[in-house]
Amino acid sequence: MIYWDHAASTPPYDEVIQTMGEVMKQHYGNPSSIHRMGEDAAKLIRRSREVCAQALSVKPDEIIFTSGATEGNNMAIKGAALQYNSRGRHIITTQIEHPSVYDSCLELEKQGYEVTFLPVDQQGCVNLDELAAAVRKDTILVSIMHVNNETGSVQPLLEVGKLVKERNPRTLIHIDGVQGYGKLPVYLNDWQADLYTLSAHKIRGPKGTGILYKRAGIELYPLLSGGKQEAGLRAGTENIAGYVAMSKAMRMAGEHQQVFATEISSLRDKLIYSITKMPGLELNSYCNGAPHIVNVSFPGMKAEVLLHTLEEYGMLVSTKSACSSKTSEPSRVLLAMGRSHDVASSAIRISMGDLNTNDDIQQLLETLKVAVGRLEPLSRKE
Ligand code: PMP
Repeated sequence: MIYWDHAASTPPYDEVIQTMGEVMKQHYGNPSSIHRMGEDAAKLIRRSREVCAQALSVKPDEIIFTSGATEGNNMAIKGAALQYNSRGRHIITTQIEHPSVYDSCLELEKQGYEVTFLPVDQQGCVNLDELAAAVRKDTILVSIMHVNNETGSVQPLLEVGKLVKERNPRTLIHIDGVQGYGKLPVYLNDWQADLYTLSAHKIRGPKGTGILYKRAGIELYPLLSGGKQEAGLRAGTENIAGYVAMSKAMRMAGEHQQVFATEISSLRDKLIYSITKMPGLELNSYCNGAPHIVNVSFPGMKAEVLLHTLEEYGMLVSTKSACSSKTSEPSRVLLAMGRSHDVASSAIRISMGDLNTNDDIQQLLETLKVAVGRLEPLSRKE
């Protein structure tokens, strides 16, 4: 079996698995308890926060631990909207955001906020002139992703930051960084990011843990009521083992980023070069995108059928993102990129990780030819 679904989740590093077990066994005290075991647990959280902060070149008290990026994105967007609604009620995002951002914005619309969902071009990038035109005096937040989880398209964050802050210095910038960290360099300062979300299970860390970076001085309205954990922003007893293990994964993924980008983009380019020789196929990812995601459509075929046929041959790919793959709707992201209904319904996502090899790519290409050959006569009949 070869795993091609790293944008959905990744195999945890051995160190991560080992750390989870050790910390759970030895440090089960509640970090809020004021006895020795509680203090030891609190110390571990402090240390993990320092490691994560270092990986992002920010200050430890700018790091909020979360249960993952869905929570981080909700916390950032709804928390900022509630906190700053006296400044305005306008939010800008894009049509290709992850559901945790997109649906948070839809929810805010129902609450009386005005949301501009910016369109993207054929390659999945926002147009900077359209963004500039959208920023207003009452725009409290711009939420934009670093790397798209379905196609790997990369947003021009440097220009976005410059432009948004020139137009309105008080507009906050939130970046969903989930698919970018460990794959591409991260420049929170240069991007002028105020809020930035990560998820550990996309970088070989544990599931159910993540980070929200919140620039010092920015306030968010807390979505949970209860204890004062995470500076009052996230009530609830901390996932100590998860946080320690996540900090290890962040450090390792950060250190491997350059090697990852070089090695995996060479696999991607090889895959794109060979796959585009297959007739009738439409490519939805580009060589200027993130190194690890290739999205490709086989018009006339049902993506799910192709996925399961590939699975029969031991190749695990995905359709759309994990969070929306169970809906039968065509991909919202591909439709926003101007693809037809047929192209958007016949897309599979191949997402690579650092354990994939040249040999794996060769096997995938051969399998794809066989699977598509098997399905083609059926798709012609429909
Ligand atoms: N944003 C993006 C871009 C993602 O790819 C994902 C995971 N599919 C998330 C947010 C949500 O992350 P989590 O699984 O940690 O909730």
